[in-house]
Amino acid sequence: MHHSGEPSFRESVDLMFNRAVRLMDLSPGLEQKIRVCNSTYTVRFGVRLRGKIETFTGYRSVHSEHMEPVKGGIRYALSVNQDEVEALAALMTYKCALVETPFGGSKGGLCIDPRAWDEHELEQITRRFAYELIKRDLIHPAQNVPAPDMGTGEREMAWIADQYARMNTTDINAKACVTGKPPHAGGIQGRVEATGRGVQFALREFFRHAEDVAKAGLSGTLDGKRAVVQGLGNVGYHAAKFLSEEDGVKITAIIERDGALISEAGLDVEAVRQHLSATGGLKGFAGAQFTEAGAAVLEQACDILIPAAMEGVIHKGNAPRITAPLIIEAANGPITFGADEILRQKGTVIIPDMYANAGGVTVSYFEWVKNLSHIRFGRMQRRAEEARSRLMVEELERLSADKGLGWTLAPDFKEKFLTGSDELALVRSGLDDTMRTAYQAMREVWHSRADVEDLRVAAYLVSIGRVAQTYRSKGL
Ligand code: GLU
Repeated sequence: MHHSGEPSFRESVDLMFNRAVRLMDLSPGLEQKIRVCNSTYTVRFGVRLRGKIETFTGYRSVHSEHMEPVKGGIRYALSVNQDEVEALAALMTYKCALVETPFGGSKGGLCIDPRAWDEHELEQITRRFAYELIKRDLIHPAQNVPAPDMGTGEREMAWIADQYARMNTTDINAKACVTGKPPHAGGIQGRVEATGRGVQFALREFFRHAEDVAKAGLSGTLDGKRAVVQGLGNVGYHAAKFLSEEDGVKITAIIERDGALISEAGLDVEAVRQHLSATGGLKGFAGAQFTEAGAAVLEQACDILIPAAMEGVIHKGNAPRITAPLIIEAANGPITFGADEILRQKGTVIIPDMYANAGGVTVSYFEWVKNLSHIRFGRMQRRAEEARSRLMVEELERLSADKGLGWTLAPDFKEKFLTGSDELALVRSGLDDTMRTAYQAMREVWHSRADVEDLRVAAYLVSIGRVAQTYRSKGL
């Protein structure tokens, strides 16, 4: 979605970087070193399909190797191109630094319409693409670890992991070559919904700060807020589902490829998703108004706008008409540099992509650590927790007996308290903690510096600062 008179996606990211970096005093050399994309590998390969050879173009871009491995998803879409992959790789660098996952930034893409091929064909294509990247260490547990992105998921990650294992039969860490694998193939509980869960945790944390909520001209809690969601893919679906089912948010509109559903009473996200997967579109869903003019629904009155589809959907052309006072960028780069400027002047509060959608890579980090440790995730922590809980229970019971208080713990409570937590609970609390800590780091910069106008600049300042620190301590 490239609009004339606007910079490309990569240029847009660079311009946002520049807005922040002028507030820092980095040496021009270091500034340049951090901004530029280190390398982009392009591969064209042929696969024999349906009786003829089909040629595909794929990319893997490495933005910054200040930490290794570098990390970032692989996207399958017809719109994939070098500029896009490089912009997304840069965002990965800043995202990882902001949530303190110890990775550099990378991104991959394959120019393909995944809907045009059946599962068996996609497997052949994916394995061939993976083969090309593995050969060049662009998939490697210690150097470059892909993950799902738009158009890919657990299935593709399982193929990639298997392809790597076949080509590296003696690598004991083979499973850590990619994240987002299905749980039975070395994945981790809670990875699929992690990005959507992260969007929910980000909004919860935002609403814990009344001062920040007031900056958006809103008040109170998430309960009863009206949200418009663009894109009911993995990220949008989970964000909308959790916010509506657990936080009392009303999803008043959902925008997809074929149009939008509108319901002031609030949509049943689960039902809409089922309709979408059964019919391929939103049209024909009972109990809500349907319009083919989906893009216009972005401008509809609501409290929170959640673009969760793709980049550039809010541009100079529609930004003046966007009415939501709060936008959370669940997608990467949904607001162009030009639109960002227009919205800022209007006082719109934007929770930036590199923070808002960092839940995915955060849980990818847990998965990678789990694979490298060769031990069930949380097993060590759980033993320690159990020991601590047991001490507490014993102390309580002793105290009660000493003082003749007659306290007893309900047996089911005692049981739960002592047996500790499972993997999913650990992943969830680790993600929650990460989202809170990162928000507070951004917020601190936003509030303490008069020259920091918005959360995006604050996010860049925090992450560029951390990347620069790493380069300095490496002695660059
Ligand atoms: N593709 C996701 C992103 O853009 C996840 C990346 C990862 O888990 O490495 O952040």
